[in-house]
Amino acid sequence: MVIDSLPPLRDVIRTHDLQARKSMGQNFLLDLNLTAKIARLAGNLSSCDVLEIGPGPGGLTRGLLSEGARHVLAIEKDARCLPALSDVAQAYPGRLTVLHGDALEIDPLTHLTPPIRVAANLPYNVGTELLVRWLTPKVWPPFWQSLTLMFQREVAERIVASPGSKTYGRLAILAQWRSDARIVLQLPPEAFTPPPKVSSSVVHLSALSEPRYPADPAVLSRVVAAAFNQRRKMLRAALKNVAPDIEDRLVSAGLKPTDRAEQIHLEGFCALARAVAAP
Ligand code: SAM
Repeated sequence: MVIDSLPPLRDVIRTHDLQARKSMGQNFLLDLNLTAKIARLAGNLSSCDVLEIGPGPGGLTRGLLSEGARHVLAIEKDARCLPALSDVAQAYPGRLTVLHGDALEIDPLTHLTPPIRVAANLPYNVGTELLVRWLTPKVWPPFWQSLTLMFQREVAERIVASPGSKTYGRLAILAQWRSDARIVLQLPPEAFTPPPKVSSSVVHLSALSEPRYPADPAVLSRVVAAAFNQRRKMLRAALKNVAPDIEDRLVSAGLKPTDRAEQIHLEGFCALARAVAAP
């Protein structure tokens, strides 16, 4: 399937000399059928602005545009990619804006008009940091309707994990508190150039109109980070630095001080965050 009039991505990489750099976490998707498929997994894009982080040579960007995104704002740290992205912008006049810089430092909101969806294939450490930021703003609903993000499979499993599983922890709680999170695609290492060591998964998160249970995001994050930092310990020991009277607060949240973090459901953590925030 030809998705646009631009050259194949292997040619783009050759023309612009875009050898993948490990230091930038670069594993490129070169199959435009696959990038169009990922764009479709992001939902109906025709009336949305899409924020793409880390467009690289532009494979997913082209997928998003060919699948009808109203406008794409792409933030890329590696200046070597800018000429290739400028070719993509010319092929889709007025529909692609590229910002050069670190997505952890740029505020994209002035360049975007709601409704907004986010799509990205990012180095996993940057992706996890951004995901946590996107899930923990003070005010909800957030600027985004959905996030469609590529992660190492193990990180994706942490996002959708249930209580009692080994991968259940901070990411599962923060993601499932305020969104519906699903793994929508699994990809083997060979889907990327160069292939990474592990498999990858695309996770789709749609923002709920309100959180499943009330809690302050900063307090919930703090409680959950402390609880899972020492996941084998009983809650009263793991959380002793969160509040001096933590046993009383655990009890008032309906939890047993002898419970362990991995047994506690989202509702229990939200109740605990409220108990910790209470005067
Ligand atoms: N989206 C492209 C694709 O799917 O082929 C590239 C994916 S590659 C895994 C990650 C991209 O993110 C690279 O282009 C890299 O330069 C860029 N990147 C890495 N860290 C970044 C950051 N902090 N801010 C913006 N872009 C970043």
